[in-house]
Amino acid sequence: MTRFIVVAGGVISGVGKGVTVASIGKILQEYGFNVTAIKIDPYINYDAGTLRPTEHGEVWVTSDGGEIDQDLGNYERFLDMDIPKKNNITTGQIYKTIIDKERAGKYLGKTVQFIPHIPNEIKRRIKESSKGYDFCLIEIGGTIGDYENIPFLFAMKSLRREIGKENILYFLITYLPIPPHIGEMKTKPTQQAIKMLGETGILPDFIVCRAERALDEIRKKKIETYANIKSDYVISEPDIDTIYRIPLDLEKEKLGLKILKEFNLKPKKKPQWEKWKKCVDNIANNNKEIKIAMVGKYVDIGDYKLTDSYISINQALQHAGANLNVNVRIEWIDSKKIEKNKDELEQLKNYNGIIIPGGFGASGVEGKIKTIKFARENNIPFLGLCYGMQLAVVEFARNICKMEDANTTEVNKNTNYPVIDILPTQKRLMKESRYGGTMRLGAYAAMLKENSRVLQLYKEAGRLEDDKNKVLKLKNNEEQSFRLGILEQAKNIILERHRHRYEVNPLFIPKLEEKGLVFSGYHIRKDKEKLMEFLELPEHKFFIATQAHPEFKSTLTNPNPLFYGFIKSCI
Ligand code: GLN
Repeated sequence: MTRFIVVAGGVISGVGKGVTVASIGKILQEYGFNVTAIKIDPYINYDAGTLRPTEHGEVWVTSDGGEIDQDLGNYERFLDMDIPKKNNITTGQIYKTIIDKERAGKYLGKTVQFIPHIPNEIKRRIKESSKGYDFCLIEIGGTIGDYENIPFLFAMKSLRREIGKENILYFLITYLPIPPHIGEMKTKPTQQAIKMLGETGILPDFIVCRAERALDEIRKKKIETYANIKSDYVISEPDIDTIYRIPLDLEKEKLGLKILKEFNLKPKKKPQWEKWKKCVDNIANNNKEIKIAMVGKYVDIGDYKLTDSYISINQALQHAGANLNVNVRIEWIDSKKIEKNKDELEQLKNYNGIIIPGGFGASGVEGKIKTIKFARENNIPFLGLCYGMQLAVVEFARNICKMEDANTTEVNKNTNYPVIDILPTQKRLMKESRYGGTMRLGAYAAMLKENSRVLQLYKEAGRLEDDKNKVLKLKNNEEQSFRLGILEQAKNIILERHRHRYEVNPLFIPKLEEKGLVFSGYHIRKDKEKLMEFLELPEHKFFIATQAHPEFKSTLTNPNPLFYGFIKSCI
């Protein structure tokens, strides 16, 4: 029997609903329950794949190849588990399913209507995703006042009737502003949010109050009277130093036991927060600081710089820092500035390490290539991610192999040395396979080279998928089996997530290797094409790049080995 916890937001969006949901899930996990989480995005887009990152933050990639809103990333980072793409529900998906069914004559001539068909499809999706779990958390994106949330709130209300009130709880997350000219925390917007939720037929069981500061007893009582719930169930969630402290803070209010009590459940085990707490304290207390230059393409939105488009990399760096007890400070450097100004390049000497993150298009590329050269020549730890690896190949080809105008065909279609290219077989294969359109999306297997640094790092982290049964299980699924490709051996295998179109061109690999570039991991596609996944320079302090996005597989207590190794080397 699955129990449901529905979380909706009032007042304003962007108050950290996602991390609160993830924190509640983490708490329930610590009490011994298995938990999953669903994110509802009320927009009409089918998924986040086509959304502009500057508007919506980074696109999160799931193991099964979904391009999803960042919140699923938060769930994974807290719950340390794979969350599949079906756990993201958008209005677009709901309507598409229904219209496709209607066109296929599946409704047998009936009138297809907003009610009951839309809420029914929403509930069907939720039930499918929650199968086999003790708890399913459902986060409704945006706020309860949004028109587009009407069908989802309706569905959440009727779910209660279907499964029984003892199996579902509603959380309202609000924000309590402290206007500077008054200097007092105001509860009125929260009262209005409670009223608005009530109008949809849902009464909250818990209210989580986000604010700059903790909520005092007077205000808790005020909300108690207004919402008609015990002030014990009005939970204070003030701003804090790191999001990973939220579950610890919520547990100070005994939220886990309160939830279990409402469901008439007893804890299955005693929570063990020691390791988690140690990492959180390390983030908060450490004195040693490591400075990382993140050289990418940044867009200013009005007066603000949008660093959210690399949120998973920031998180992965923080995870590594927390486990090595250093504070990782990330500085955002616009690669276009490096293109124009020589001094900007020299400035990179002041950093302990350099990262070139993923990206698309020609803008700022020459600056990134200059940066890579600088890191290579000055023995500064370097980590290249996706585009970062492709450009490291371009740099090496140009400056070491003397292929003067070497490039990726994404930037220059007419180069004499297309060291990064769309492979001729690729377009056709992608079309046939249906998996991922023209992009390579999701977790692909790579085999790591003996004696390589990359292998060492994955081995130390216990991340090798060397268990034959585990690999066989993955093969059961046709789509996953496609991503495993051909495995030469059940040894030194890793899985990392991908989101790209271009590959290292096999024609140039012998020449690059001859000059000392080590490709330390590769994937063998079902049609036997070898795709390069990792590269390294053995003589360098730390020069590693990957075609994958390892930042999507990093959690607070289980940092990704590449980020861990990189920070260690920076120290
Ligand atoms: N633009 C590159 C490609 O499509 C890299 C993509 C990325 O960095 N995610 O292959």
